[in-house]
Amino acid sequence: MEHQDLVLTQVEEKFQREQLTALINSVGMAIASTSTSGIIRVYNPALLDLLDTHEYLGGKQLDDAFHLYDPGGNPTSLQQILAKSDRLVERDDLSHQFANGERINLSISYAPIKGSRTAETVSPDGYIFIVRDITKAKTLEEERKEFISVVSHELRTPLAIVEGAISLLQYQVDNKKDPAEYAPMLRSAHEQVIYLASMVQDLSTLSRVERGASDTVETININELLTELYRHYLERANNRGLQLLLELPPAVENVICSRLYLEEILQNFVTNAIKYTDAGTITIAAKDAGDGIAFSVTDTGIGISKSDQKRIFDKFYRSEDYLTRKTSGTGLGLYVVHKLARKLGAPITVESELKQGSKFSFVLSKKPADRYDETSEDV
Ligand code: ADP
Repeated sequence: MEHQDLVLTQVEEKFQREQLTALINSVGMAIASTSTSGIIRVYNPALLDLLDTHEYLGGKQLDDAFHLYDPGGNPTSLQQILAKSDRLVERDDLSHQFANGERINLSISYAPIKGSRTAETVSPDGYIFIVRDITKAKTLEEERKEFISVVSHELRTPLAIVEGAISLLQYQVDNKKDPAEYAPMLRSAHEQVIYLASMVQDLSTLSRVERGASDTVETININELLTELYRHYLERANNRGLQLLLELPPAVENVICSRLYLEEILQNFVTNAIKYTDAGTITIAAKDAGDGIAFSVTDTGIGISKSDQKRIFDKFYRSEDYLTRKTSGTGLGLYVVHKLARKLGAPITVESELKQGSKFSFVLSKKPADRYDETSEDV
């Protein structure tokens, strides 16, 4: 080759190399190449982000950078995994552990880079791999699977009771039994259908919340909203022999937020307060609290034990307490409330003492911009 041509080819090669480097550096996925013995050669900044390090990785052993665990939770070597590959492999069952013990789930695609090729053998010159952090996707997927399994389990029992009651009724009708005997069966079927309806209602609210279907905000007049809430529940409380009070200064400042979310949270607190209080008073209150409006619903009911207070926001959690068990409920209400409160950036506080009563409260910031919406981290 002429000297001039050689220089041209070198310039072209340099240009292509630079372009390739720029391309690899600009992608968000972590990419690296190694020698056959697992020494890191080339890598992009995304790999440093993924491994949460600023260290220079060139020349380092793969297994010094990655601390991998297999699906069984046992330490495993990335270098040995790569060494076994003879084609492109994709897997998402490995996790990496950081120095502080925290783990992330990884999706890794890897392949050998074939360096030299003779008629008989193909010898890899090294490996190339692409890694992604799929922790969030994995957690969501696991949560979804668990949720479906719990929902189907929760639906099975009431459906079995309804099915049993109806088939017994059918038998009694067919055999012309005394209609007075039908009553207990009818009542139990009816109760279970009401329970199923409330479960469907809670699930549909949950799905709306998760889709963000009611995220739209509007200016809300708190005095109107709470007065409306008070009027709506007054009869139900009185029918249970309870006093319902509204503590509201004449003009609480308006807030800008999703009406559905705020209403849903307060309604849940009030219905629970009515449900879990046998005698006494339920107080709905709102007041100015500097940068925010402080809302609370207080009851003089059965109360919640310290250990239950940690769990009542979990999905389907209902206290084992017999006083709770004699009421019907899905255990989804406060789970939905928790999600909504996070959307509004207003964490819920529970104060409660057994047999004394409970107070559920939260402070909603007056400025929507101050609200920290944690939902992006919500799983
Ligand atoms: P549900 O009322 O359908 O069981 P929730 O998610 O609304 O479900 O509440 C979860 C649990 O928290 C209830 O089962 C009950 O044990 C407890 N709880 C909620 N609110 C109160 C309250 N005001 N007083 C006593 N216990 C309560």
